[in-house]
Amino acid sequence: MVKNIQAIRGMKDYLPSDIIIWQFIEEKLRQVLSSYGYNEIRLPIVEYTSLFNKAIGNITDIVEKEMYTFKDNNGESITLRPEGTAGCVRAGIEHGFLYNQQQRLWYIGPMFRYERPQKGRYRQFYQIGVESFGWQGPDIDAELIILSYRCWKVLGITEYVKLEVNSIGSLEVRNSYRRSLINFLEHHKDVLDDDCIRRMYTNPLRILDSKNPTIQKLLNYALPLSNFLDKKSHAHFDNLCTLLKNNGIKYKVNERLVRGLDYYNDTVFEWVTNNLGSQGTICGGGRYDGLVKQMGGHPTPAIGFAIGLDRLVLLLKTINKTFQPKNIIDGYIIASGKSVQCAAIQLAEKLRDSDPTVKIITNFGSNLKKQFARANKCGARIALILGEHEVQTDQVIIKDMRTGNQQILAQSEITKILQILLQ
Ligand code: ATP
Ligand code: MG
Repeated sequence: MVKNIQAIRGMKDYLPSDIIIWQFIEEKLRQVLSSYGYNEIRLPIVEYTSLFNKAIGNITDIVEKEMYTFKDNNGESITLRPEGTAGCVRAGIEHGFLYNQQQRLWYIGPMFRYERPQKGRYRQFYQIGVESFGWQGPDIDAELIILSYRCWKVLGITEYVKLEVNSIGSLEVRNSYRRSLINFLEHHKDVLDDDCIRRMYTNPLRILDSKNPTIQKLLNYALPLSNFLDKKSHAHFDNLCTLLKNNGIKYKVNERLVRGLDYYNDTVFEWVTNNLGSQGTICGGGRYDGLVKQMGGHPTPAIGFAIGLDRLVLLLKTINKTFQPKNIIDGYIIASGKSVQCAAIQLAEKLRDSDPTVKIITNFGSNLKKQFARANKCGARIALILGEHEVQTDQVIIKDMRTGNQQILAQSEITKILQILLQ
């Protein structure tokens, strides 16, 4: 027997029953973003591999083991984007929209990471990313976090998510903290797990967010990163915390929050939920003041975040919200008799001409009984029935599928028919 071809592991189909939730979320979030003056940008899904190596950092999980990298026909190494910030910065430098300017941008689309697939973790997943360029102060940090909070507010999930914030200071601060942390870890090598040993000299800061409880206990005895912060970073962070407090945003300072990418500095934050098991982070972001310069642009302060849409959908489903749209279909045209098909299509077109929002399905083929069953199945409230007689007399039978009530109208009474369909 021929084995059916299946989707690639970790890459899933998003079926129409789920798309209802996706569209609901996307529409709400687009509204929020535009209410803060953010503009959409569309970026390629593939970029040169060197872009990600340079932007994300060679010793991060993403670059070390999660990238989908191929050679194209020309022998160039290209990579399916694992995140959106690098491409956005690349575009900004390429088109000159960052130099001496301020930009509020957002994007939506698939990202690719070669990870072990599990609930809330896929190899193709979707993010909405938000990036602002050109503002130095903690006010934009606060605005972005408040914006993210508004996203949860419009989706009705504020009680299920919690904000964690931290400051990881400048690169110099992290370098001196790195030395202190390595020194501490070297004295406790016996309790470290393989993952920690692997990261100890390459990316020791990532050990701070190890999921291993023994490691977390051990870290209680290590000096916290905040002891190393300079005055400027402290002031920035204190200012941000005050802005959040004064705007009624509850947060927890998590001194171990470092984030997985190299380009961050000062503010980092995550929104986490307890409702999704270990894949609990639904949104993460931070400041990346050095990245534009590092990528060859003019020094430009920047901050951004990304929402993991797959996890957001899972969260909405878990907390048992019902997303049945009011009306999938307004009217289902049932046509009996071959010669009637043309009239059926014409009636549907006339209705759509008069009101582009009306949702009509025209039946093709099958007998009357089947047509009624199909009308029911797609949730149509009204059936519009056309037979030879109705076509000859320019009439249509309108049947309410719930009550069974029927009336006959002239096909030319489009406004009246629409009124019934859309009531
Ligand atoms: P994690 O620690 O869960 O791997 P991350 O720090 O790698 O997350 P980011 O790079 O900050 O994730 O991406 C932002 C958001 O995108 C995450 O908070 C998460 O909601 C989502 N995300 C990241 N990787 C995946 C994935 N493989 N599948 C589904 N969603 C993901
Ligand atoms: Mg990850």
